[in-house]
Amino acid sequence: MIRLYQAQDLPQAQLVIDMLARHGIAAKIYNGNAAAAVGDIPFTHAYPEIWLVEESDFKRSRQLIAEFEKPPSDELWCCEHCNEASPVTFETCWNCRRERLTDG
Ligand SMILES: [Zn+2]
Repeated sequence: MIRLYQAQDLPQAQLVIDMLARHGIAAKIYNGNAAAAVGDIPFTHAYPEIWLVEESDFKRSRQLIAEFEKPPSDELWCCEHCNEASPVTFETCWNCRRERLTDG
């Protein structure tokens, strides 16, 4: 087991776990019970931690987490006219200059 990531809350931890599972990576959530037992950290202040079952998955998992944490401005939208992907900061398609029609 190796610690991969500290989530902000349990729902976010679950999202990360699900994302890793889709890539065939096994991981578990520990929600700070151990930390509370050894220190003075109140249980409610302990963030959920994600631990990898296989240490060899660590590097790939970090890359997946980095993708997961990308800000929304890095997302792409797909042009309905030519099917090219443009950043969400673009109001028009970089390829054919058609206006963006829909969100997502
Ligand atoms: Zn286009």
